Parts: sequence; structure tokens; C-alpha cells
Amino acid sequence: MNKWEELDKKYIWHPFTQMKGWLENPQLVIDRGDGVRLYDTEGNEYLDAISSLWVNIHGHRRKEINDAIIAELDKVEHSTLLGLINEPSAELAEKLVEVTPAGLDKVFYSDDGSTAVEAAIKIAFQYWNYAGHPEKKDFINLGDSYHGDTVGAVSVGNVEVFHKAYKPLLFNTHRVSCPSFFHSKLGARSEQEFLQMLLQELEDYLKEHAQHTAAMIIEPLCQCAAGMLMQPKGYIRGVRELTKKYNVLLIVDEVAVGFGRTGRMFACNQEDVLPDMMCLSKGISAGYLPLGATLVTAEIFNAFLGEPTEYKTFFHGHSYTGNNLACAAGLASLKIFKDDDVIAGLPPKIEVIRQHFAHMQAAEFVGDARQCGMLGGIELMQDKGQKRPFDPALQMAAGICLNARKYGLIIRNIGDVIVFMPPLASTAGEIDEMLTRLTKSMEEIFAQFRGQNVKTFSDPCAF
Ligand SMILES: *Cc1c(COP(=O)(O)O)cnc(C)c1O
Repeated sequence: MNKWEELDKKYIWHPFTQMKGWLENPQLVIDRGDGVRLYDTEGNEYLDAISSLWVNIHGHRRKEINDAIIAELDKVEHSTLLGLINEPSAELAEKLVEVTPAGLDKVFYSDDGSTAVEAAIKIAFQYWNYAGHPEKKDFINLGDSYHGDTVGAVSVGNVEVFHKAYKPLLFNTHRVSCPSFFHSKLGARSEQEFLQMLLQELEDYLKEHAQHTAAMIIEPLCQCAAGMLMQPKGYIRGVRELTKKYNVLLIVDEVAVGFGRTGRMFACNQEDVLPDMMCLSKGISAGYLPLGATLVTAEIFNAFLGEPTEYKTFFHGHSYTGNNLACAAGLASLKIFKDDDVIAGLPPKIEVIRQHFAHMQAAEFVGDARQCGMLGGIELMQDKGQKRPFDPALQMAAGICLNARKYGLIIRNIGDVIVFMPPLASTAGEIDEMLTRLTKSMEEIFAQFRGQNVKTFSDPCAF
């Protein structure tokens, strides 16, 4: 155990981690990064197939972003947005309004995804007071949704394992069916029929309850933290049409799917959706520094205008709101998106993922290998025909992810779903290498499960 592992194990409580297992097992210490590679303190190299938990976009230590942060650091490290303006936050706000769907006109900064969602919830609630409908105060969310860990964000989420410990602390929401066809128990025979059932269910609820509903919150196209659950085409458009028809705000949480992950700049672009609010974080600073943003329409913003004594102020903000360095990183990231035409370069990379996933789908214990642009989820099942999961005690996906480290791959699971989310800057060759390494690890663990001798495959399509 080196010095840092000792210090870590002595002092740190890790996020989303059962610390007993952490303390009992050897852990990696990351020393440095370069492009899509990470290096541990022993000098071993790893491909970063989860973008350092979904945040990295243009690779590690990208010169343009490093330079932008250093340039800002030479001017000032932080200056508050309470009563003052700073240059990078003003410029980044202009650029965010430019790149997001037309109609989102104002930017409220916060520190991370949870706080971007928390701000959206409070804005929606307060907005209806000023819009003359104080009775509109409830929220609709999706089955198996995840929107962050602060108490409001947990309230609008419902990933059972994350949330059951906090139930008594949370406010109630109305939950509609999770829009994942693969997991659905609604009995639809086709994805098209499934879509119609989902929208019918939503409309039935809105007809009765829209008058006391403030907003519906969705993570569009792919519900990432719930296990990369994919929505049928037309779903977010349908939800937008219904929420508009029944006068309910639509909050779109693009914290994970935003900034190119789905193959377009934002998931909303895929179905030409203009939400009333959009929550951004993770990729916003290209994985450099914590930053969140909640974008709103002019209509929402204007409802909060008034005299000080009307107390229409949005009473919310954080010490580091609009931090100079984080905003400088965000600006540099958006410049790279433009200069390198990042989105236009994605299709060949997306195709490599598609090909690998098609082979994986044929594997005995892969129930579903699903993809949405640069986002992927590989769900393991003991009996894929019956959709029967593995015994959770086997920790199949976790075992595959840990085993992949010896092949030089950093990847993580959520339950028995392996999440694949490479930096957008990964080349097609690097993506091919990541999935080849994953396939090797997967086949090895599958072979162990079958009780066969462990074999190593050099061909990713070997099974
Ligand atoms: C990660 C995530 C959040 C929470 O963001 P944090 O920065 O971890 O607070 C919220 N919503 C979605 C969809 C996320 O993926």
C-alpha cells in the first residue's frame, strides 16, 4: 500500500461506496491523465471508458482548457456573482444560450448537477405563485429517475436502492411509468404501442391533475444513473406536447446526456424539443471543475421581476456561483466543440460502438446491449430469454469491471449494467480498444461463471 492509499483509507469516506469493502481491498491511486488515458502511481495505463464519471469530454489535460484556466487564474481565481459581474461567467452564459435550444434565454449558475436540479425545482414552484397559480405545486417524475443527491433532487428521483433510506425526508411526487421498453411490464407488443401507452398514461393524469401540477422533470432519451435506460423515439416530443397542452412546466435534466453524448449537442435537439428549463452540469466544464447551470425561458425569468419589497427574488445561490475558473473552462470547452467540429466527428465513433454492441448482444449472458449515440449500457442476465437477472450477490458486472483493470480499462457498473461512456475525444481506434478490452474481461468472467477454464480472447467477436 503506498502513502496515498494509506492516507485515503485512514481519512476518506468515498461517495456511493460501501466503505467496508473499500478498506478491505486494494485500490488504485490515479497519478495523472493524458488524453483518454489515466495512469496509476505504479505507472500502469488505463483507457478512461467512463469519462471520469461522465464529465470528461475532450480528454484529460487538454492544452486549450489548461491554458484558459491558467490565463484566468493570472487575473483572478474567484469573484462573487452576488452584486458583481465577472467576465467568464458573462461570456459563458451568452454561449450557453447560443448552443441550447432557442427560447432558453437566461442562465442561473450553481455548482453541480444536483444543485442545478434543486434550483429548477424551486424556480418552478415559485414561478407559479407569481404567474397567479399558487395551487400548482406538485411534480411529475419518471419511474427509475435520478436527478442528484440533495434532498429536493432525491425527491424527484426514484432509484429504489438510492432513495429508500431517505423516504421520510422527501416530498411526494407523481411517478409515471419508466419509459424503457426492455424493462416495461405494461405488456405492449411493440415500441410504438409502448410509446402510445406511456403518453396516454401521462395525459390521463394531466387531465385530472394538471391544475395542481407545477412541473414534470425528465432525463431525456437515456436515464443514465438508473442503468442506461433508453426511451422510445418520439417520447420526449410527446411529453413536451402534453405538458404544453396542460400548462405544466417541463424541466429537462441534461446533466449527463448534454454536451454531445447522444450524438447531438443536447438530447432535446434530437426531437426538436424546447423545454421550459434545462439543467446542465458534468460536461459543461469538460470535466475540469464543478459547475452547474439552470437555463430558463424569458417568461419564467420575467415572472420574478418586481420591486425589492415584493419579495419576488429567487432566494437561492451558492458561494461559488459563476466561479471564474470553472466558467473559463466551460468557455474553452465550447470553443473546442466549435473549432474541432466535435459533433460532426461523432458518427464513425458511434458506429464502432454499434458494431461491438451487436456482437456483445449475441453473448449468452448479455440481456441487452443498448446504445444512444456515445452512451452505452450492457445489461447482464443469467437467462436472457426469460429476462432473469443474476443473483445480485454474484456482483457479475462489478466483477467484469474490476477484472478489466488488468487489461488497462477503467469502467463502472450500476447493478448488473456496465456503463460505457467514453470521452467524445476518443478516436474510433481508442473506442475499439476499450470495447475489445471490456469484451475480454467479460468473456473471462462469463467463463468462470460457467465453471470452465478461464480463456483469453484476442478477438472481440469471439463469442
Ligand atoms: C450526475 C447527475 C446528476 C447529479 O449531478 P452531481 O454533479 O453529481 O450533483 C443529476 N442528474 C443527472 C441526470 C445526473 O446524471
